[in-house]
Amino acid sequence: RQGALLGPAEIRELAGRLGVRPTKTLGQNFVHDGGTVRKIVRAAGLRPGERVVEIGPGLGSLTLGLLDAGASVVAVEIDPPLATQLPVTAREHFPRAHLDVVNADAMDVADLPGEPPTSLVANLPYNVAVPILLNFLERFDSLERILVMVQAEVADRIAAEPGSKVYGIPSVKAAWYATARRSLAISRNVFWPVPNVDSALVALERRDPPPTSATRQQVFRVVDAAFAQRRKTLRAALSGLAGSGAAAEEALRAAGIDPGARGETLTVEEFARIAEHLGGAAP
Ligand code: SAM
Repeated sequence: RQGALLGPAEIRELAGRLGVRPTKTLGQNFVHDGGTVRKIVRAAGLRPGERVVEIGPGLGSLTLGLLDAGASVVAVEIDPPLATQLPVTAREHFPRAHLDVVNADAMDVADLPGEPPTSLVANLPYNVAVPILLNFLERFDSLERILVMVQAEVADRIAAEPGSKVYGIPSVKAAWYATARRSLAISRNVFWPVPNVDSALVALERRDPPPTSATRQQVFRVVDAAFAQRRKTLRAALSGLAGSGAAAEEALRAAGIDPGARGETLTVEEFARIAEHLGGAAP
């Protein structure tokens, strides 16, 4: 079944035919290795016939792997020539496959055609990977499982636990929606053009948000403020949001959190408790 996927010659031929010059701005690095695609698809653990959303399908390397696995795919691609070509490529390889293509910016997508997807599988454009991931977690409740390829450091950050050096805003915000686990490392040599960073997969599984009377927006504002200056204590970092250092200290103590602690030690549940006690200060 190797022939079903795109190899280096086919990627170059397709790009040449379409006049595609991969751009850094759109994070265009295309996978030209069928083995890597199969590894990603296997790691995604799709159910037969499952509806999958793919972001940034590019020339279709991963899309073909998903279709080969029997998934019904909806793909969101920002670059018009790539979005136009994708159904053609898919039909050539899998004439009976189910594919919808949306030509849009994944940062703004608010609805998708067809059945709601239960899985998201993507090789994300690296410079906007985290906001796109959070946008999809927020807007598409139907998503239960996510497997994305991102820059290795970003994968570490998304999956980090409190207390880790790389724990930060992406870790806490992802934890609001899901449990995250760093998965396989992917060599930069499977891409054309070869990027100057290494990649890794990160797998997320939806969970209920922490039980709290604070809204997600309130909690995320506390998280943003807590990490705005990493070296500051929570008392100092939250004083702007609370109105004063004393008010921040009072909210932290009421939430049972040491005002001298730093954001990087707190769980998402603790951030939610702080947001509850800041109350009206964080609308
Ligand atoms: N999935 C393909 C692969 O594995 O070969 C391509 C992955 S490439 C790293 C990222 C893709 O995302 C490109 O096709 C690019 O045009 C697209 N893209 C970049 N920014 C996007 C955005 N904001 N919304 C949707 N697609 C985007």
